[in-house]
Amino acid sequence: MIVDFVTVGPFEENCYLVTDESAGVAVLVDPGDEGRQIETMVERRGIAPSAVWLTHAHLDHIGAVSAVRRAWPGIPVHLHPADALVYAYAERAAANYGLRFEQPEPPECELAEGQILTVGSLTFSVMHLPGHAPGHVAFVGEGIALSGDCIFNGSVGRTDLPLSDPNAFVGSLDRLLGLADATVIHPGHGPRTTIGRERHSNPFLVGAVVVPGTARRVSGAVLRDLNA
Ligand SMILES: [Zn+2]
Ligand SMILES: [Zn+2]
Repeated sequence: MIVDFVTVGPFEENCYLVTDESAGVAVLVDPGDEGRQIETMVERRGIAPSAVWLTHAHLDHIGAVSAVRRAWPGIPVHLHPADALVYAYAERAAANYGLRFEQPEPPECELAEGQILTVGSLTFSVMHLPGHAPGHVAFVGEGIALSGDCIFNGSVGRTDLPLSDPNAFVGSLDRLLGLADATVIHPGHGPRTTIGRERHSNPFLVGAVVVPGTARRVSGAVLRDLNA
């Protein structure tokens, strides 16, 4: 497995290319902006992507969906249906930031909790992690988690956006922390990290900081910390 990424757009979003090089199969995760840069990443790897997987539909994660469809016609876009409204709203959200944005046509495929997705011989399961956005998911497998805007290196996703749900978000962080310590997190923004590193040093996850909009610390992390 090879995980390439390129950081794109004003929100510095990470678009990933996950490749099974022996099978010659790849998928794109969160083509957020700057389609040309994403195409360059794919050309360097030399394997055309067979699908687009979206962790969620905020504008910084879907802004190059149309460009990707032009580059690889017929490529199916996968999104959890609970983010359909966020997807449809992206162009207006971009206008609020004063950003130019190409609103993509709707996604072709719906993701669901527990669904198994493959990239050649690589297997990932879909983990529904609502909170930052209602249809936010992570793609978990092969020792990694493509976890969008849930956990970052030293921080967590925002919960003050339209359709955010801070209490659901705390439950989703708890679920992610159930993954093995060695799991490598490829986040939607910032450098990669591991579940273990964040569990032990992320100020939101060691109970040092309360997730904004809630009165709750991430209970699983605090319990684990107390038991340590
Ligand atoms: Zn987001
Ligand atoms: Zn984002």
